[in-house]
Amino acid sequence: MGKLDFITQELEQLREQGLFIHIRTIGSPQGAWIEVDGRKVLNMCSNNYLGFANDDRLKKAAIKGIEEYGVGPAAVRTIAGTMTLHKVLEEKLAKFKKVEAAISFQSGFNSNLATIPALVGKEDLIFSDELNHASIIDGCRLSRATIVRYEHCDPESLQAKLEEYKDHPGKKLVVTDGVFSMDGDIAPMDRIVEVAEQYDAIIMVDDAHGEGVLGEAGRGIVDHFGLHGRVDIEVGTLSKAFGVVGGYVAGKKLIVDYLHQKARPFLFSSAVTPPDVAACIAAVDILQESGELVEKLWDNARYFKKNMKDLGFDLGFSETPITPVMIGDAKVATRFSMRLFEEGIFAQAIGYPTVPKGKARIRVMISATHSKDDLDFGAETFGKIGKELGVI
Ligand code: PMP
Repeated sequence: MGKLDFITQELEQLREQGLFIHIRTIGSPQGAWIEVDGRKVLNMCSNNYLGFANDDRLKKAAIKGIEEYGVGPAAVRTIAGTMTLHKVLEEKLAKFKKVEAAISFQSGFNSNLATIPALVGKEDLIFSDELNHASIIDGCRLSRATIVRYEHCDPESLQAKLEEYKDHPGKKLVVTDGVFSMDGDIAPMDRIVEVAEQYDAIIMVDDAHGEGVLGEAGRGIVDHFGLHGRVDIEVGTLSKAFGVVGGYVAGKKLIVDYLHQKARPFLFSSAVTPPDVAACIAAVDILQESGELVEKLWDNARYFKKNMKDLGFDLGFSETPITPVMIGDAKVATRFSMRLFEEGIFAQAIGYPTVPKGKARIRVMISATHSKDDLDFGAETFGKIGKELGVI
């Protein structure tokens, strides 16, 4: 056996199980219709909730950002990489989220890796929803704290676990996704906060899919539940509704001050580039002024989901514009996605390990950029292929 034969074998296994990820290449800007592998197709799987990824206002801001600050920060934030733009973005994000302070990172993934190990360590406990995002899981593992998983979106299960460990001397952190990215359900944050407060646990929510979607003009899950001041850490991404790239933590100034000193990706990985930051500032400014795009997003999501339910599709537990079309078998889901592509629709199949085995699906992402005609075409085509493959 050669030393790398295990890779060949594992890749072969993935193919056999229908779990090999087929990576497609986009040849145009993001939007409702995009060019994928040389074909123009209806885009139903980007996280471009509000259309900001190709918004003129953001593009102009990015160009101005380059003209004024160049293309690269040339340093980590703590040495020479903090530019005026980073400070402006953080101040605007804090104001938008109605919190004391914010700190930005290179991505949402990085924000979780940065924050969790800074707050808890080997002697401590993390209470984590069993379906939390991979970046939360990795952040928890990096911290070396004991990880206690509670049942998905179940405050009673959380309470039982907190009770079980109540005499443990370590710090306690409760962490959950706000909106679960593969199912589109919303964490019952009001009840999670109530339970966590009883045990004096630090409360953290990853609002990657709540940002720009939930709450007043997309202020996120804390705003949605009216929990201002009671959630210690809100993690956000700037790559989904905000349309660019980057991540951040919003919350108490004390925590943000601490992360400036302790968060390893902030200390050891270069800052986000000036055009990206400038474009993010423009996105926050737009949302600060108006929730119009957020309303359009929800209007589209309701419209598409109703059509799909009427056709007989199982959309799981979604309560948000994330629309999982449940298939079950990974091979059927992959076939479904291929057929959609042939018919002019880009919507990817998602299987294990991103979702549990046997729960493969096509995850449709609705955007404010879709027209009603686009959504009609999408649902009709889903219906046609659903019948063809015996899904409905
Ligand atoms: N958290 C959650 C819940 C996510 O869905 C994602 C994106 N897949 C991330 C974090 C990572 O965000 P980013 O793409 O900005 O790294």
